[in-house]
This record gives sequence, C-alpha cells and structure tokens, in this order.
Amino acid sequence: MADGNRPDVARDDPARQLQIYRAMFEQCCDAIVLQDHAGFLSCNPDTLLLFRVPDTATFATLQPADLSPPNQADGRPSSEAAAARLEEAMSQGTACFEWCSRTWDGVDFSVEVSLSRVDLEEGPLVQAVVRDISDRKEGEAALRSREQELAEAQRIAHLGSWISDFRTDEIRWSDEVYRILGLNREEWGASHELFMAAVHPSDREKVQAALETSFQGERYELDHRIICPDGEVRTVHERGYTELNADGKPQRLFGTMQDITEQRRLEDSLRRLAAILDSTPDIVAMHDGDGTMLYLNATGRRFAGLPERSSQDLWQPKTGWDRSDLPPETESLEGALRWAHPPWVAEKILNEGLPIAWEEGSWRGETVALDGEGKEVPVSQVLIVHRDDAGEMDQVSTILGDISARRDLEDQLRRETALSESILASLPGIFYVLDGQGHLIQWNDRMEAVTGLSYEEIDGLDALALVPPEERRRVAKAIAKTFSEGSAVVESKLLTVEGDAPYLFNGLRVELNGQFSLLGVGLDIAKQKKLERSLEREATTDSLTGISNRQRFDTEMEHALARHARYGTQTALAMIDLDHFKRVNDTYGHDVGDQTLVDLTKRLAEEIREPDFLARWGGEEFVVLLPETGPSEAFRMAERLRRRIEVEPFPGVGALTISLGITNFQSGDTPNTLLKRVDTALYEAKRAGRNRVVVNGEDSGA
Ligand code: GH3
Ligand code: MG
Ligand code: MG
Repeated sequence: MADGNRPDVARDDPARQLQIYRAMFEQCCDAIVLQDHAGFLSCNPDTLLLFRVPDTATFATLQPADLSPPNQADGRPSSEAAAARLEEAMSQGTACFEWCSRTWDGVDFSVEVSLSRVDLEEGPLVQAVVRDISDRKEGEAALRSREQELAEAQRIAHLGSWISDFRTDEIRWSDEVYRILGLNREEWGASHELFMAAVHPSDREKVQAALETSFQGERYELDHRIICPDGEVRTVHERGYTELNADGKPQRLFGTMQDITEQRRLEDSLRRLAAILDSTPDIVAMHDGDGTMLYLNATGRRFAGLPERSSQDLWQPKTGWDRSDLPPETESLEGALRWAHPPWVAEKILNEGLPIAWEEGSWRGETVALDGEGKEVPVSQVLIVHRDDAGEMDQVSTILGDISARRDLEDQLRRETALSESILASLPGIFYVLDGQGHLIQWNDRMEAVTGLSYEEIDGLDALALVPPEERRRVAKAIAKTFSEGSAVVESKLLTVEGDAPYLFNGLRVELNGQFSLLGVGLDIAKQKKLERSLEREATTDSLTGISNRQRFDTEMEHALARHARYGTQTALAMIDLDHFKRVNDTYGHDVGDQTLVDLTKRLAEEIREPDFLARWGGEEFVVLLPETGPSEAFRMAERLRRRIEVEPFPGVGALTISLGITNFQSGDTPNTLLKRVDTALYEAKRAGRNRVVVNGEDSGA
C-alpha cells in the first residue's frame, strides 16, 4: 500500500525498480521460476531449496518434466501435461493447477502452481509460482480418512448423526442416517418433512414433542419406529440437543439416530426365552463369567422359597439382570453351589462337573439339591459352560430336574422286583412264560435245575418238548385252553433229570407288551401222588385184615355190574358170615377174636381164584365177587371155602364154621337188588342151621 507522504523513488528510477523486483524475486518465500518453451530460464533461491537443485546453472538446464515423476495423478505423462499447462498460460495469460513434483534427488511432493504469462520485448515468458502443499494435502487426506473412519464407526454402531442449521435452513444427514432410513442421499436429499414422513405414524406425535422440548434448550432422548420405503419397520433410539444463541433462539439442532431394531429383537427374544424358561418344570440358573448368578427361573425360585417374580421384570435393557432378591451367597459360583446343594454335591461339581464342562462344554450327573427348607431332593443335573471367542468363561448355566418321583418309582420297582424274584426263587415248582406259539421266553432257575437244560437250550423251546410224548396232546390242549379261556390246569409228567415226574401245571393268560403270553407254574406232585395213593389205600383197605373194605367193594361191584350189563358176563356174589362168632369174643376175648378174623381172611384169600375179589363187609362178614362164574360154579367155590374153614381148627379157639349166601348177577341188577338177594341167601343159610351155602335161595345142605 503506497504512503502518500513518502516520495515514491522506485517508481521514478528503473534501476531502483529492478533492484526491488530482484529482491522480491530473490527473497520471496514461494518458489518462483521463469520458463519458456525450451525449459526453465531462472529461479529464485527458494526454488533451489524446494527442489533441492544444487545451483541456478543446473536448474537452467532442466525441463519441468525433470522435476516431476513420469506421470501425474491422472496418469498423464508429466512432459505432456507440463506442455499443455504452459500452452494454457501462454494463450490464456494464467493457469492454476495442482502438480506432482519430484525433487532433484527423487522425493515426490505436491505443489500448487500458478502460471502467468509475462510479455517481454523479445517475446513472452511464463512465470511460475510454486507452493509446496504437501502438508495441506496430508491434512486433507487425514481428514478424509477420519471422515471415512467416522462413517465406518457409524455404520458399525448403527449410529447416524445429523445437523439441522436453522440459520441457513440446511439439514445434513450422515451416511448411516440414510442407511437406517433406507433412503438414498442423491435421490432424496434431506429435509425435516422427509424425516417425519419416515417416522411411524403412531410415533410422529411423540417425536414432534421431543423436538419441541429441545427447542427450550433441553436434551432429548426417545425410542421410536420408522418405516423404510420397502415397508420394513425399524426401531431407532434418538438423542439430540439444540444450540441456542444468547437470545435463546435455536441456532442448530444436533442429533444422533441409532438403529436398535436388532437389539430390540434380541431383547424381545431374551424376554421370550426367560418366559419359556420360567414355565419349564426344571430349575434353570444362569451365572455370568465371574460366577455371579444372574438369573434363576420361576421353578428355581419356588424350589428355593424365593419370592415370585415376573420373568419380564428380571431383565432391563439399561440395567441388565436384576439379581437384587437373590441371596448374597449367589454372588459367586462356589457360594451358589454351597447354597443350593449339600457339601458333597458342591465338592463333586467343583472338582468334577465344572472341569469336565469347561473342557467338553457340558456335564451331566445325578445329584441332590436343597430346597427352601433344606430338604434334600434328588435331581438330574446338567452344567453348561459357555466360553467366549478368547476361550474365557462367558457364562455357566445349570439345569436341575427333580427326579424324586422317578427315584420313588425306581425304589418301588426295585422292592417289587426283589419280592417277585424271591417269590419265584422260593416257589416249590418251576415258573415259566410261554409266547403265543407256546415257546419258552422266560423261566426261573429251578426250571434249569429240574430239567437239566441250559439257558440256551430252554430259550425259545417248545414247551411240549418238556413232557413225554404221550402227554403232549393233553398239555397242548391245556395251553390252547389257557390262551382261549384265560386259564387252565393240567396234570402231566415232566421230563426231569431224574426221569419222568408228575407235575401239576397251572396256566394263566396275561398280556405282556400288548401280546398274550402264558404265565405258568408247574408243581412237583410226586409226594402228593404218593400220599394220595396211600390215602386211597387207607380209605379202601380194612385195617385189621388188610383186605379191601366195604367202600372199595362198592366200587368194584359197580364195575362188575357195568361189565355184566355191557358184556352179559356171568358173575356171582358170595356173602360169608362166621357162625357164632360172638361166643369167640365172649370166651377168648376181643384180641383172640381179632386174630381169628385175620386167620379167616388168610384162609379165604388162599382159597379164592386170582380174578376173584374178596372184601370185608363189616364185623365178621365178608363178600367175594366171582367174575366169569355161573351159579353151579359159584356153589362149588362156596363149598370149597366152607369146608376149608370147617376142617381146620383155629389156634386157641378150635373149630369154627361159616355160612355163605350166593347170588348171580341178573340183568337190570343194581347194587341194592344184588345185596338184597345175597343177604336173603345168607339169612336162609343161617336159618337152615349154619355152616351152609345157599345159592339164590337154594340150600346146599351141610
Ligand atoms: P351168628 O351165627 O348168628 O352169626 O351169630 P354171631 O354171634 O356170629 O352173630 P352176631 O351178629 O350176634 O355177633 C357178631 C359178633 O361179632 C358181635 C361182635 O362182638 C363180633 N365182632 C364184630 N366185629 C368184630 C371185630 O372186629 N373183632 C372182634 N373180636 N369181634 C367182632
Ligand atoms: Mg354176623
Ligand atoms: Mg356171625
């Protein structure tokens, strides 16, 4: 700027002027270069410094391309680009541009060049002012990368930012705001109306109210929904504040918008999960990586006698899990284990369960938990260790299922099994189960001992193979009857190690696993059979004489009557009475009388034929059935008996006689008619004087 009071010497003196220009050229902080089409002409010292060229003489030998990399940023060869710029300055007078330069020793840097044409008498020259802008370039690059970082950070955090400048009416949204709103910056631009249109209609009022509070200078924060152009509904969390000027007038509104749709979804699923966990009959507890119990489901709370809580309250987005009413012991994993279990279980989990779950992800076992009253409850336990990407403990979950009911059932089953096993073992007989085909599918030990067969031999064996061939038809019938009617009893021989043995088989149809089976018990009845036989013998034998009694005779007589009725075979019946036997008793005593009866029996038995049947009728009366015997033959037979007694005295008693009545079977006879006739015959023999035989009313005479 010229000072009016100072004489303007330089203007008048060309030499002085040149000196001044020279000084400016020399001392200027920018690099100044003079050049023409042929190349550089001269430069100021700063140029030499900037390009690190040793001296002006060297500089004067160079072309612009010699102080540039081979190509410029746009890929154009530097020599070509330099010539174009020079031409531009020559024709237009000036040219300004950025340029990639290279120092004399080869270091690239950015410069800003402004070329000006200088017209001289000998022709035009170009003066270039070169300014090193590498610092500015670096700053710009750094700013660009910071902006990119910010955009990247916003993208990762789903957090967009925006500014509304009321003074310029300008609204700027960050890339992430566009992404969240599902809008395109180029297509849509940015405006308040556009934003409000994106807000879910039901939320618009509340958003507008929040903005208005912020105009009073208050910060605002709210969650609301937006609807994207494709119809997707997202939830965003917004914060903002308004910058006011000294008069309290809103200047700018700053805000952030965070897409929390995913987070909301996670929160919702977390709540749903908690609701599901609360409704399971199992106890579920969750601990964080430090072991602090964060969550105990409703079943667990009930079990431990803690107050009921709604699963929805237990987790809040801001505060996380609410463990305020969990007991202090649950602040550590070990504390919680000792709180929830008896000491031996806590030790077992700490020393065995946790290390395994740590290695393998989970551990399973049956343990015992303590309920609210300290009562031990058997539980099935699963321990799950979640580890984060770094392998650190992230979370420990445990699931406990009450198995006391199962345990009770198991105990009961064990007791019942033991009982039925001991019953089976103590059964006097064999026990077996047959399938629908009559094959053995189950049996007791005694079965193997009795039959002498091995497990393998019995398994699947047809039950009929266990009885002798002659019994098989009956046994097969009994098995079939059991299946058709539900039960059956059959007596049969069983093939045992000691030979055939009589058994009584009792079968019962049972339904096992939806199929009919036969449950059977076989009892060894050899002893009973023997007893039966002896009882039968006792029942049919006269104890004094050892021959058949009247009862047995009745049966025999019925058989004989049947044979007679069927085949018409002649049969005779004799009744024998000892004469005057009362006297024997009276004279010699009862014992001698008894002995006399025994002797008499012996003699009669000796005298009768093999098929004849002798029995004691009672007292001193006997009967003889004479098969295949007609009246005369019967008479001869009776006579022989009579004489045999008559001729031989009884020891200690002397001679005795018998009287006999005889009758022959007639058609239509019954035991009564027969007995009546034979009795009449005997009566007649007695009346006729004793020691006689009367056949069908005919006295034989003595
Ligand atoms: P009778 O010639 O008319 O047959 O005369 P009796 O004496 O043989 O006939 P009675 O019917 O009057 O008497 C039968 C006697 O037989 C009576 C009884 O004391 C005797 N007696 C019957 N059973 C037994 C017995 O088992 N042992 C002994 N010692 N005596 C018996
Ligand atoms: Mg008598
Ligand atoms: Mg008599």
